Amino acid sequence: MGLVVQKFGGTSVGSAERILHVAERVIEERNRGNDVVVVVSAMGKTTDSLVTLASEINPKPSKREMDVLLSTGEQITISLLSMALQAKGVDAISYTGWQAGIETEDVHGNARIVKIQTEKVQEQLQQGKVVVVAGFQGVTDTGDITTLGRGGSDTTAVAIAAALKADKCDIYTDVTGVFTTDPRFVKSARKLLAISYDEMLELANLGAGVLHPRAVEYAKNYQVPLVVRSSMEQEEGTIIEEEVSMEQNLVVRGVAFEDNITSVTVFGLRNPLTSLSTIFTTLASHHINVDIIIQSLTNDQLTNLSFSIKDSDLEETLNVLEENKAELGYDKVTSEQGLAKVSIVGSGMISNPGVAADMFKVLSQEKIIIKMVSTSEIKVSTVIEKEKMVKAVEILHDAFELSKLPVHV
Ligand code: ADP
Ligand code: ASP
Ligand code: MG
Repeated sequence: MGLVVQKFGGTSVGSAERILHVAERVIEERNRGNDVVVVVSAMGKTTDSLVTLASEINPKPSKREMDVLLSTGEQITISLLSMALQAKGVDAISYTGWQAGIETEDVHGNARIVKIQTEKVQEQLQQGKVVVVAGFQGVTDTGDITTLGRGGSDTTAVAIAAALKADKCDIYTDVTGVFTTDPRFVKSARKLLAISYDEMLELANLGAGVLHPRAVEYAKNYQVPLVVRSSMEQEEGTIIEEEVSMEQNLVVRGVAFEDNITSVTVFGLRNPLTSLSTIFTTLASHHINVDIIIQSLTNDQLTNLSFSIKDSDLEETLNVLEENKAELGYDKVTSEQGLAKVSIVGSGMISNPGVAADMFKVLSQEKIIIKMVSTSEIKVSTVIEKEKMVKAVEILHDAFELSKLPVHV
């Protein structure tokens, strides 16, 4: 007898009917002879509605109170799914994050899990129960409720699977697996049968919302076999694992994208030795995440610096730069909003030079101007105008022959 952790996302538990259907998927797994821990998200768009509700009360709500509010979404689902299982004759018990022993660091809105005390969950499993755990939430060592960041229920599931040494973790969602790109935007996207942890981590970090990046990080660190599959269709999903054989010698395995990117340029920084460290230390202390960074030295020994941030961080970034202008010593700051980042990912790039060049050529043929670039061993990212984002994804998806992959069902 094995142990399986199943996770069901918001759409999959979006109505009473769907919760009853999820109960059937849990029972199927039990009938295969496995113990089951189920992790669920809030129903449908509940979390978004709660965020809107808070903004109607207070335009800048405290992060602690936001966590108390947002964690209620998942609490609704755990009770309803347990009731659904009980109605179908299966013994089940619901646990909030803190009841399930999920301890996090003391950070609101984006906490990391530091420890999971599994005793209670294990006791209930031993009594033959299905344990239904609220995703996305935990508790600090001083007893405050925290949340793990949007999409964080995936991370709860993988972390519990790792702590319980489960045989696998199945992420049930509204698509049939991990695709070469978001199938909602690109019709020729193809489901991959397998993808490596490293590639999936890049895709998730670069905007492929199908998995929370920390869930992939956890799965890799603890070597948890992870499967993404549909909660509706009985279709084989995508396995995410350490080593993956190259499907048809693919150099690129996926295209990821995200919008709401802003680039900021600081002109004429006077101190080449310290400007960079001072700027980025200051921004980090305000929790502003900087992504791509480009620096160039001008003829008169001044430094120009461009970097990309999320649109939502622009106001604070400009304020921070202005407040520290004297210390930083620069001429002026400009910014450009309405940008997007489009990235290609694949471990085949390591042994294939010229992939970045091919990407730039494809974009230039479509007259898409590249504003920023960043690369790693297995990815190339470009920042372009937001209006061109979907077009860029489509042409790159075709150019790297992902549209020609067989359709797996
Ligand atoms: P859940 O509520 O189940 O967690 P999410 O909305 O978080 O579901 O994630 C599933 C969505 O991820 C899909 O509906 C799809 O639009 C999006 N997505 C983005 N990139 C990909 C990709 N490469 N493969 C599959 N889905 C993707
Ligand atoms: N309910 C949370 C969200 O919408 C967490 C999750 O769904 O994973 O972000
Ligand atoms: Mg999700």
